[in-house]
Amino acid sequence: MYDVKSLKAEEFISHEEIEETLAYADANKENIALIDNIIEKAKLRKGLSHREASVLLACEMEDKIQEIYELAEQIKKDFYGNRIVLFAPLYLSNYCINGCVYCPYHGKNKHIARKKLTQEDIVREVTALQDMGHKRLAIEAGEDPLNNPIEYILESIRTIYSIKHKNGAIRRVNVNIAATTVENYRKLKEAEIGTYILFQETYHKESYEKLHPTGPKHDYAYHTEAMDRAMEGGIDDVGLGVLFGLELYRYEFAGLLMHAEHLEAVHGVGPHTISVPRVKHADDIDPSAFDNGISDETFAKICALIRISVPYTGMIISTRESQAVREKVLPLGVSQISGGSKTSVGGYCEPEPEGERSEQFDVSDTRTLDEVVNWLMKLGYIPSFCTACYREGRTGDRFMSLCKSGQILNCCHPNALMTLKEYLEDYASAETRDIGRKLIDEELEKIPNEKVKKTAYEYIHDIAEGRRDFRF
Ligand code: SAM
Repeated sequence: MYDVKSLKAEEFISHEEIEETLAYADANKENIALIDNIIEKAKLRKGLSHREASVLLACEMEDKIQEIYELAEQIKKDFYGNRIVLFAPLYLSNYCINGCVYCPYHGKNKHIARKKLTQEDIVREVTALQDMGHKRLAIEAGEDPLNNPIEYILESIRTIYSIKHKNGAIRRVNVNIAATTVENYRKLKEAEIGTYILFQETYHKESYEKLHPTGPKHDYAYHTEAMDRAMEGGIDDVGLGVLFGLELYRYEFAGLLMHAEHLEAVHGVGPHTISVPRVKHADDIDPSAFDNGISDETFAKICALIRISVPYTGMIISTRESQAVREKVLPLGVSQISGGSKTSVGGYCEPEPEGERSEQFDVSDTRTLDEVVNWLMKLGYIPSFCTACYREGRTGDRFMSLCKSGQILNCCHPNALMTLKEYLEDYASAETRDIGRKLIDEELEKIPNEKVKKTAYEYIHDIAEGRRDFRF
């Protein structure tokens, strides 16, 4: 029944295979020889299978967990260096006809304010985001063919890319909208989106159907097979995710890795990113109503295991997580975080009035983007606003081969520094600017290739003189 190459959801995410995986993991969670072998294999940086990774997830031996954390940190450093890419979500519309029981946008919620941005609203929102310093957005919308048809999404993307305000620009728009048709994915590709993101929510079919009782999202197979349709439509950067808290985390973790293995086996390229959201309080949603919430410790273990199991995939942590949790998981393999986020429709230009709240969920990290940038640098990271890969056509397997070739220090590293320099010149507070200038001076010296280093110095100098948008 289980077939990694099948195009049928229930075959590439086989329930029986997950159950067997969990039983195998339980039987071997204290098998030191096997665990050591798996950790040794992970050190080769070629990833782990869902079975191997599930054994490590089940393992509770403190010394082995420490070893996994150390390896995750090392792999993160080797592939991603100390860069952290920043983005913000932009909610276009919260009209939705689905019945997702964990989401306040569900169709039966009559008291949440329903809002949809007009193109003029989008100009105002994006101008506010550009004034914060953002260059990369993830657009979000509920599923509603009448209010949010694909034409609306496409028009909104065109609007976002067209806004040039002072030195600002949105250079990459990632899209998080409901599962759709190959034809619509093709249109999104033509609109030059970055990553298409769709969270599976849960890989457990029976729970999935209960958690999505009504609306088009009820169809488990259509949702689970969406990434295959996206890739058929030409999108080669796709982002996976599970909403932790809905089902048993070990089940979800195995399913997530099986999904990544499936994409690699069928399309020759795995997921560009993996997100790890946890259910949060929202308008009429109480997270304690879901029995499967995970502790911060387990959350960190999952992050570390994703890093060593799929070493080339970016990992995203949103502002659903607090500053403290983000600080704990950053070294374990996170490559992208959001900053200064609002989860309301139209929340960036002005705060929403009390009786008209439209947020999707409560944000835990409420700091401004400048505070997040400042904090990252103090922790030794390079905040990056880079969008170069996708604009240079380095998507899908071309991005993966850059990662694998070890050229990150000659390419991504200087690109990160140049976009940070732009941020410092155009948007940063005086303190953040001072810290950043010192950091850039130190980091430029780390570029191994002399020619690249010299050019990077020149570009950084040119940015200080007012020129913008350099990239390798
Ligand atoms: N409607 C689209 C879909 O069906 O995928 C767009 C995604 S929605 C705007 C973004 C994600 O937020 C969802 O996929 C879900 O995982 C997450 N989400 C929904 N309710 C949440 C909650 N209460 N706490 C945390 N995340 C939530």
